[in-house]
Amino acid sequence: MLAGTSIANAQNPIEVFGRARQNALRITCQTNLRQLSEAVLAHARSNGGRLPNLSSPAALRKSLGSRVKDGKIFTCSQGHLFQGNATLSGRKLSTLKNPEKLVLLYDPVNAHLGGRNVAWADGSMKWHTNENWGAILHRQKVR
Ligand SMILES: [Zn+2]
Repeated sequence: MLAGTSIANAQNPIEVFGRARQNALRITCQTNLRQLSEAVLAHARSNGGRLPNLSSPAALRKSLGSRVKDGKIFTCSQGHLFQGNATLSGRKLSTLKNPEKLVLLYDPVNAHLGGRNVAWADGSMKWHTNENWGAILHRQKVR
C-alpha cells in the first residue's frame, strides 16, 4: 500500500524531462532576446539616442547591420523571429516616459510554458504568462 502511494505521488519522469527541456528553451530564448535588446540600445546610444526601425524583423536587422555578428540573436529558440514595438521606431530614449513599462522587443507567439519573453525599453527582460501579455497589450500600443 505504501509503495503504491509513493508511486502515485511521484512525478512522471517524461513530464519532468519535458518541462526541463521547455525551461531550457525559454532560457536560450531570453539569452538571444537580451543580446538583441542590448544591440538595439547600443545602436540608439550611437545614433543620438534614437531607436532603430522596429517595424519588422527585416527592418530591424537592416538597421543593426554589422553591429550584430551572430544572426541567431534575432530568433527565439522555438524558431520564430522576434518582433519589435514599431511604435518606438525612431523615438529618442530620453523622451520615453517609464521605459521599464514600454515593450521594446518580444516573442510574437506564446512559445514558452504558457507565456513569452519580453524585453523592455529600460534593458530589462522578463517572461510573462499569456494573461499578463494580454494586460500589457491592453495598457500600451504594441505594433
Ligand atoms: Zn522565445
